[in-house]
Amino acid sequence: MRTIAAVEVDAGTKTFASGLLPDLIAALRRSRKGDLVAVTSRDPGIGPALEAWCRLTRNSLVDVAVEEGRTRWVLRYGEVPEDVAEDRPVGSRLWLYTNFDCNLSCEYCCVRSSPKAPRRALGIDRVRRIAIEARDLGVSEIFVTGGEPFMLPDLGEILVACAAAAPTTVLTNGMLFAGSRLSTLLALPRERVTLQISLDSPTPERHDSQRGKGTWARAWNGILRARAEGFRVRLAATVSTDAEAEEFRGFLDAHEVSEENRVIRRIVLRGSATQGIALARADLVPEVTITAEGVFWHPVGAEDNDLLVSGEIFPLAESFAAVRRAFDREHDHQRRLARIFNCA
Ligand code: SF4
Repeated sequence: MRTIAAVEVDAGTKTFASGLLPDLIAALRRSRKGDLVAVTSRDPGIGPALEAWCRLTRNSLVDVAVEEGRTRWVLRYGEVPEDVAEDRPVGSRLWLYTNFDCNLSCEYCCVRSSPKAPRRALGIDRVRRIAIEARDLGVSEIFVTGGEPFMLPDLGEILVACAAAAPTTVLTNGMLFAGSRLSTLLALPRERVTLQISLDSPTPERHDSQRGKGTWARAWNGILRARAEGFRVRLAATVSTDAEAEEFRGFLDAHEVSEENRVIRRIVLRGSATQGIALARADLVPEVTITAEGVFWHPVGAEDNDLLVSGEIFPLAESFAAVRRAFDREHDHQRRLARIFNCA
């Protein structure tokens, strides 16, 4: 899907040696920090120079696509607009994408999950080995996500294996707590497993428009049921604006949801989303994320090549080391750039 940009620059035949730079500067002058600016050219050769210019000017190149023989680069103007980087040691958190299929197909899903998405299951055997090695590595939190994890018939075994290694949170849309899936839920250890259930708005309209008709009511029922069964439930909203975030905070206050049981985050321009915050790898402090395809930098782009660190999961110690090495290398590069461009 085409990334929507605030400003479009048709570079024509221009390069950095022949007039492209003034066009870029003019485009940024028409933009606000955080806006996306697209540059289109028939000459793919301007890509490396554009990439270098983005690094030096601290803008982020967030997307490249070829459309009808022309290359379109999308860059985000300015530094990261949100406090996306948290001060947490690399390797303290571990994310597992257990599957990519889902009962929903939300319009902003960062990994394009849907009922038609291939499952791409991590599988209980790999999860057991990951959990054992993660415990030895001192992982302090495990997050199990997808897709919708409750689609899996062996989710109970997966969560028990993870919970034996570290406190575990399973991210779910909360809509499948019935029949054998309810039995799976009820058998989970309450003291080691937290449910993080998505609810995007205080009332059904916005949530249903993004996730499907009737989904708000079913998610809310899931939240109430899980709480009634004695689980810690964290409510997670995905919003587009500060006003939506504020409105949701009011809703959480009214329902006496404590701070540690709230997650409010912005839509990210990845996966199925066509609008949202554009995040490049350099914007994200890594949180090791494992899928059936390998080891990724962060859960927000768990099928995007720019965030793939390694195709090999095991040994887990080497995966963690690879992420740390890449983080150190890239941060060192940024620091050196900052030194080179000290102006006074
Ligand atoms: S956002 Fe969550 S519930 Fe929606 S399609 Fe993606 S995985 Fe499924």
